[in-house]
Amino acid sequence: MPCKLAAGNWKMNGLRADLEELRALIAAQPEPDCGVLICPPATLLAPMAAIADGSRLLLGGQDCHTGQSGAHTGDISAAMLADAGARHVILGHSERRADHGESSDLVAAKARAAHDAGLTAIICVGETEAERDAGRTLDVVLGQLRDSTPKAATAANTVIAYEPVWAIGTGRTPTLAQIAEVHDALRAAVPDAEISLLYGGSVKPGNAADIFALANVDGALVGGASLKAADFSAIIAAL
Ligand code: PEP
Repeated sequence: MPCKLAAGNWKMNGLRADLEELRALIAAQPEPDCGVLICPPATLLAPMAAIADGSRLLLGGQDCHTGQSGAHTGDISAAMLADAGARHVILGHSERRADHGESSDLVAAKARAAHDAGLTAIICVGETEAERDAGRTLDVVLGQLRDSTPKAATAANTVIAYEPVWAIGTGRTPTLAQIAEVHDALRAAVPDAEISLLYGGSVKPGNAADIFALANVDGALVGGASLKAADFSAIIAAL
């Protein structure tokens, strides 16, 4: 298995004044044994790349277009993210699926564009609370995995993040047994068995170590707790 990864998703948060949190994070983790990734809003990628230069901190985008350039006002291409210093891009986050009506087919096309630009695609999958209550969790998650992941995906260019929609930003997390059930099913279904599987949804310093101890959990995708260097450093320390 590749080394574990702690990925922070800043979502639509972060002004230049918040770059202090990145400086504090780098200062707190001079030589992380594992991967540490921050996915800021696109406006902060270039200044973050300047700050992270010479450190082992990785940067990523939160979305990309399927094309490399062209007449798509307001969109950003994978090549532009790479040019600004990104190595990864989050795709198919449930907030994009819900807010922008993104289908799994579109997510797969974006993942191919990311791969073409040399980026690692972090493809998000996860069930809603209603789907879990209806006993459809594995059907939904494995269906999203199948339809959102390019057939040629490998551990070198793809990471899968399991994020139950009802756990994102709510402070609620599945039981360890529920996380393990989904991650074990994902491990059996990914096109390359070495693909890293992240858990996301209300990961905090207090629950990270137990989640990371599960056999098929290779790290975390962290929203709110990645915004503060102290909280994210504590999660990284639990990897
Ligand atoms: C996320 O949005 O990817 C996420 C996991 O958010 P939070 O950690 O805040 O639940």
